[in-house]
Amino acid sequence: MSEARIIDGKALAASVQERVAAAVSELRMKHSFVPGLAVVLVGDDPASRVYVRNKGRRTTEAGMKSFEYLLPADTTEKALLDRIRLLNESPEVHGILVQLPLPGQIDPARVIDAIDPDKDVDGFHVINAGRLAVGRPGLVPCTPLGCVLLAKQAREDLSGLEAVIIGRSNIVGKPLAQLLLRENCTVTIAHSRTRDLPEVARRADVLVAAVGRPELVRGEWIKAGAIVIDVGINRVRREDGKARLVGDVAFDEATAVAGAITPVPGGVGPMTIAMLLANTVKAACLQRGVPLPRMLEGL
Ligand code: NDP
Repeated sequence: MSEARIIDGKALAASVQERVAAAVSELRMKHSFVPGLAVVLVGDDPASRVYVRNKGRRTTEAGMKSFEYLLPADTTEKALLDRIRLLNESPEVHGILVQLPLPGQIDPARVIDAIDPDKDVDGFHVINAGRLAVGRPGLVPCTPLGCVLLAKQAREDLSGLEAVIIGRSNIVGKPLAQLLLRENCTVTIAHSRTRDLPEVARRADVLVAAVGRPELVRGEWIKAGAIVIDVGINRVRREDGKARLVGDVAFDEATAVAGAITPVPGGVGPMTIAMLLANTVKAACLQRGVPLPRMLEGL
């Protein structure tokens, strides 16, 4: 049996980042402004710190301005909302991202509601969720955007395909369902109450796992030739005691059946940051009333 093609998320993310950098320099030359992204982190969770640092580095590498706010773990909700208000008003800041999860004293829904929807580069605001649901232009969550571009690496036209998404979160599963509908897929969203999940998964021409359970999806759940997009990032202990990352899909089993598959790491993860950069440029163009540079069309 032939092995699945590995979809290289790192390479695709690098090419998206190059397009973003070219768009940023066009905006600087033609319209005399530079897009800016503000990232706010509350507390000192080590994984979140790494994410925030990476986002800042990639933002400046793409030629944009990066603003980082590292607030202490005991920051009050009011103090965070005040910070967001200032960022909403700042003409230098076109995108605002508050790193989740937040400490217990802060209600994440209130925080997301406070972000100006036109600066909501995570696409989590209900206004942007609504725009996506009714097919109006808006800012779309980064991970689902990345998933669609990765699937299109395997097959440019997804129209008419059966898509099954395992996971119904507001940040991955639900927005991805909307995007795949837009691509004319027939979409099923599965979750923890789905009856006979392996049988549902086997229907999929495009199977997306966004669950957070290491190697839940087995080889026998996958239809021969399917495109498999693995969103899961799970830290597990190896036999030698060291930590390693695995996805929600049993990769070795899956590659024997699937037509194409994203690895973990090196698949969806790098695309999420690349799409964040693209969303920041989109948000900046929207706010400045200038057309999106041509090289970002289709992202
Ligand atoms: P959530 O925990 O918010 O959602 C998980 C979903 O999986 C829920 O809908 C849940 O169902 C479903 N689920 C849980 N267990 C099962 C099961 N046994 N069978 C079927 N469905 C199940 O997670 P997220 O959407 O935030 O993230 C999912 C994964 O993706 C995580 O590993 C996360 O780390 C990763 N992730 C990766 C990103 C990247 O950049 N690569 C970005 C975002 C997330 P129910 O609703 O019924 O509880």
